[in-house]
Amino acid sequence: MTDCLFCKMVDGVIPADIVYEDESLLAFRDIHPQAPLHVLIIPKRHIATLNALDDAVLGGKLLQTAAKIAAEQGYADSGYRTVINCNEDGGQTVHHIHLHLLAGRAMHWPPG
Ligand code: 5GP
Ligand code: ZN
Repeated sequence: MTDCLFCKMVDGVIPADIVYEDESLLAFRDIHPQAPLHVLIIPKRHIATLNALDDAVLGGKLLQTAAKIAAEQGYADSGYRTVINCNEDGGQTVHHIHLHLLAGRAMHWPPG
Protein backbone atom coordinates (compact mmCIF):
# COMPACT_ATOMS: atom_id res chain seq x y z
CA MET A 1 0.00 0.00 0.00
CA THR A 2 1.96 2.98 -1.26
CA ASP A 3 -0.34 5.60 0.30
CA CYS A 4 -0.32 4.05 3.78
CA LEU A 5 1.62 5.92 6.49
CA PHE A 6 2.56 2.79 8.42
CA CYS A 7 3.57 0.85 5.28
CA LYS A 8 5.93 3.76 4.57
CA MET A 9 7.43 3.28 8.03
CA VAL A 10 7.88 -0.43 7.33
CA ASP A 11 9.61 0.49 4.06
CA GLY A 12 11.81 3.10 5.78
CA VAL A 13 10.43 5.96 3.65
CA ILE A 14 9.17 7.75 6.77
CA PRO A 15 11.40 7.58 9.87
CA ALA A 16 10.22 5.69 12.92
CA ASP A 17 11.60 5.45 16.46
CA ILE A 18 11.75 1.66 16.40
CA VAL A 19 11.72 -0.33 19.64
CA TYR A 20 11.28 -3.81 18.18
CA GLU A 21 11.41 -5.46 14.75
CA ASP A 22 11.25 -8.99 13.43
CA GLU A 23 10.28 -10.64 10.14
CA SER A 24 6.57 -9.95 10.53
CA LEU A 25 6.21 -7.06 13.02
CA LEU A 26 7.45 -3.52 13.62
CA ALA A 27 7.02 -1.59 16.89
CA PHE A 28 7.74 2.13 17.17
CA ARG A 29 6.99 5.03 19.50
CA ASP A 30 3.79 7.00 18.89
CA ILE A 31 4.44 10.54 17.66
CA HIS A 32 1.84 11.91 20.14
CA PRO A 33 2.40 9.77 23.24
CA GLN A 34 -0.57 9.44 25.59
CA ALA A 35 1.51 7.85 28.37
CA PRO A 36 5.22 7.76 29.33
CA LEU A 37 5.47 4.62 27.17
CA HIS A 38 3.28 4.65 24.06
CA VAL A 39 4.31 2.17 21.40
CA LEU A 40 2.45 1.07 18.26
CA ILE A 41 2.92 -2.53 17.19
CA ILE A 42 2.03 -3.30 13.58
CA PRO A 43 2.24 -6.21 11.18
CA LYS A 44 4.62 -5.42 8.31
CA ARG A 45 1.95 -6.68 5.91
CA HIS A 46 -0.81 -4.16 5.24
CA ILE A 47 -4.02 -5.14 7.06
CA ALA A 48 -6.43 -2.20 7.22
CA THR A 49 -8.44 -2.94 10.36
CA LEU A 50 -9.10 -5.62 12.95
CA ASN A 51 -12.04 -6.66 10.74
CA ALA A 52 -9.54 -7.82 8.12
CA LEU A 53 -7.20 -9.73 10.43
CA ASP A 54 -6.92 -13.12 8.75
CA ASP A 55 -3.99 -14.63 10.65
CA ALA A 56 -4.53 -15.81 14.22
CA VAL A 57 -0.82 -16.43 14.76
CA LEU A 58 -0.02 -12.89 13.68
CA GLY A 59 -2.71 -11.54 16.02
CA GLY A 60 -1.22 -13.53 18.86
CA LYS A 61 2.23 -12.22 18.03
CA LEU A 62 0.96 -8.64 18.26
CA LEU A 63 -0.20 -9.34 21.82
CA GLN A 64 2.87 -11.31 22.87
CA THR A 65 5.14 -8.61 21.49
CA ALA A 66 3.28 -5.99 23.52
CA ALA A 67 3.88 -8.04 26.66
CA LYS A 68 7.55 -8.49 25.74
CA ILE A 69 8.13 -4.77 25.16
CA ALA A 70 6.25 -3.90 28.37
CA ALA A 71 8.48 -6.29 30.31
CA GLU A 72 11.66 -4.98 28.66
CA GLN A 73 10.66 -1.42 29.54
CA GLY A 74 9.97 -2.40 33.17
CA TYR A 75 6.17 -2.28 33.19
CA ALA A 76 5.23 -5.97 33.52
CA ASP A 77 4.39 -5.72 37.23
CA SER A 78 3.04 -2.16 37.46
CA GLY A 79 0.85 -2.85 34.44
CA TYR A 80 -0.07 -1.44 31.09
CA ARG A 81 -2.89 -1.23 28.57
CA THR A 82 -3.22 -2.60 25.05
CA VAL A 83 -5.77 -1.13 22.62
CA ILE A 84 -6.81 -1.76 19.02
CA ASN A 85 -9.13 0.92 17.66
CA CYS A 86 -11.35 -0.20 14.78
CA ASN A 87 -12.95 2.18 12.28
CA GLU A 88 -14.74 5.43 13.04
CA ASP A 89 -16.50 4.73 16.33
CA GLY A 90 -13.43 2.91 17.60
CA GLY A 91 -11.35 6.03 16.95
CA GLN A 92 -9.09 4.53 14.29
CA THR A 93 -7.29 7.25 12.33
CA VAL A 94 -4.58 5.22 10.57
CA HIS A 95 -6.00 2.35 8.54
CA HIS A 96 -3.15 -0.10 8.99
CA ILE A 97 -3.94 -2.28 12.00
CA HIS A 98 -1.92 -1.36 15.08
CA LEU A 99 -1.88 -2.36 18.72
CA HIS A 100 -1.33 0.52 21.13
CA LEU A 101 0.83 -0.30 24.16
CA LEU A 102 0.45 2.33 26.90
CA ALA A 103 2.27 2.28 30.24
CA GLY A 104 3.77 4.45 32.94
CA ARG A 105 0.61 5.98 34.39
CA ALA A 106 -2.68 4.75 35.85
CA MET A 107 -5.25 4.25 33.08
CA HIS A 108 -8.89 5.26 33.37
CA TRP A 109 -11.92 3.07 32.88
CA PRO A 110 -14.14 3.22 30.93
CA PRO A 111 -11.94 4.65 28.16
CA GLY A 112 -13.29 7.77 26.47
P1 5GP B 1 -5.42 5.28 15.94
O1 5GP B 1 -6.12 6.56 16.29
O2 5GP B 1 -5.56 4.96 14.46
O3 5GP B 1 -5.77 4.11 16.82
O4 5GP B 1 -3.89 5.52 16.24
C1 5GP B 1 -3.03 6.12 15.31
C2 5GP B 1 -1.83 6.56 16.09
O5 5GP B 1 -0.81 6.86 15.17
C3 5GP B 1 -2.07 7.82 16.91
O6 5GP B 1 -1.82 7.54 18.30
C4 5GP B 1 -1.08 8.82 16.34
O7 5GP B 1 -0.50 9.65 17.32
C5 5GP B 1 -0.06 7.93 15.67
N1 5GP B 1 0.61 8.56 14.54
C6 5GP B 1 0.02 9.27 13.54
N2 5GP B 1 0.95 9.68 12.66
C7 5GP B 1 2.14 9.20 13.12
C8 5GP B 1 3.48 9.30 12.63
O8 5GP B 1 3.76 9.91 11.59
N3 5GP B 1 4.45 8.70 13.37
C9 5GP B 1 4.17 8.00 14.52
N4 5GP B 1 5.21 7.44 15.18
N5 5GP B 1 2.91 7.89 14.99
C10 5GP B 1 1.92 8.49 14.31
ZN1 ZN C 1 -0.24 -0.15 5.48
